[in-house]
Amino acid sequence: MSPPCCNGIVHFNHYSDEGALLAAALVDRRLTSPADVARLAAEHDVLLERTPTPSDVAGLIEWQAALTEVVDAATDAARVAALNRLLARGTSHPSISTHDGTRPHVHFRPDGVSVTRQLAAITAFGLAWFLTQRGLHRFARCAAGDCTSTFADVTRNGRQRYCSTRCANRSAVRRHRARLA
Ligand SMILES: [Zn+2]
Ligand SMILES: [Zn+2]
Repeated sequence: MSPPCCNGIVHFNHYSDEGALLAAALVDRRLTSPADVARLAAEHDVLLERTPTPSDVAGLIEWQAALTEVVDAATDAARVAALNRLLARGTSHPSISTHDGTRPHVHFRPDGVSVTRQLAAITAFGLAWFLTQRGLHRFARCAAGDCTSTFADVTRNGRQRYCSTRCANRSAVRRHRARLA
């Protein structure tokens, strides 16, 4: 387990998985207050550089729509186009930061930005890197008929179909009953 960090990672090779997992959680999260934003960041070990504000709630709700375009893209080409829009909106040129006495590490946005921009940079770069390295299909909706949750498939074989073990089990039971009927 890595300690909390402003990028949700300490080692670069963790960046993509963590950024993609945060992106999946953010798509589905109902954000109604700054406390919701703080909780989501804490769950993903992201050390926020600022305290979330009501304008971050509004900004991240807009960002959810941009992430949703990636999940729901119908073709690989549409998915790549949606990822490029995320990168254009959510990141700026990389730079090395040593804020708060941290060891030098790369940011994809300037120092001292809003929580919205911090989380946008992590999820845009994280998703783009993860999906191009591991497979564009690995950001998807749950295959259970009654669940639309989003997941980032960080499994070794990349064949995850359900958001959770609970949905996988429920669907297996349903298929079993259908066979017996
Ligand atoms: Zn940092
Ligand atoms: Zn599900």
